[in-house]
Amino acid sequence: MAELGGLLQTERNFIRVELIDDPAAIAECSARAGHTGDRIICQRCGDADLTIAAILVVPAGGESQWALCAACLLEMP
Ligand SMILES: [Zn+2]
Repeated sequence: MAELGGLLQTERNFIRVELIDDPAAIAECSARAGHTGDRIICQRCGDADLTIAAILVVPAGGESQWALCAACLLEMP
């Protein structure tokens, strides 16, 4: 895992996030999070019928991962 301590110390108000929008990478993230063989559900609207369009990874939050469907992704600023 990349060392982000220095970055976080100098840029305290800056939260680095990573947007994963590659289907293969999303599947990999899903598997890593223990959802193997299981569909990930959008964590914003919780609609299981919607396909996940992207995963927002927040390293500063302990590698928090937010799965977002296309509709929710578009609502983000
Ligand atoms: Zn959604």
